[in-house]
Amino acid sequence: MRSPLIIGNWKLNGNSLILDTLVNELNKKLFSIKKCQIAIAPPIVYLDRISKSISNNIKLCAQNVDINLSGAFTGDISAEMLKDIGVKYIIVGHSERRLYHREDNNYIAQKYAVIKSLGLTPVLCIGETSIENINGKTKEVCKLQIDTILDCQGITAFKNAVIAYEPVWAIGTGKSATPLQIQSVHKFIRNYIAQQDIDIADELIIQYGGSINITNAATIIIQPDVDGFLVGAASLNPTVFSNVIKIVETSKNLIKNKN
Ligand code: PEP
Repeated sequence: MRSPLIIGNWKLNGNSLILDTLVNELNKKLFSIKKCQIAIAPPIVYLDRISKSISNNIKLCAQNVDINLSGAFTGDISAEMLKDIGVKYIIVGHSERRLYHREDNNYIAQKYAVIKSLGLTPVLCIGETSIENINGKTKEVCKLQIDTILDCQGITAFKNAVIAYEPVWAIGTGKSATPLQIQSVHKFIRNYIAQQDIDIADELIIQYGGSINITNAATIIIQPDVDGFLVGAASLNPTVFSNVIKIVETSKNLIKNKN
């Protein structure tokens, strides 16, 4: 049985004071959450500080990692260093890194492999641009983004992994995909993985990301193949983010009790 995972991606926001306040608020608001996994992804420079103040039920996620473990790579941070300070999840393939840092599928696959090799959990972001969506290429794009990893690392690379389906046009726009569009893509992803390994597909956490807030969270999370959210802007507001998590916990529980 998959338990829902909600990750807050704080991107390039905050400072010590703002983020300490945010962490204190989340600690207070989320202490009673037992049936969801929760993680936050602060800017890397604050990860170590936050690791010392965050509650046990909130895990740490990094927004980025280098492909190398050590050496002459000025400015880079390794997966070993992130593991050393208690990081559990690492986001890889986010559309902002694909766009602003020209990260392509092959480079993303190398990052993915390093994360897996250290026993950390990659959160692989995939999803189509607006033009690809209009041209009906959504599933083709998602398949290609998954294939680059399958081709060089095999199906076991998806054991204990997370895929976040994030349509690029829905990120930071206030315009999320509809629950049915999301379910259709998530089901496609799970079926595609299941063609190679049913157990891995069954366990695979598939999150949705793209303008999640308290008004759309419930109708999306009740879709059978939606296992949680990757939340950007809304995760910077502790009340909104914790309410999204509470909606996830309540809605998934209702479904379980009905079945
Ligand atoms: C994201 O950047 O991963 C994201 C989902 O952002 P937002 O929630 O702001 O659309």
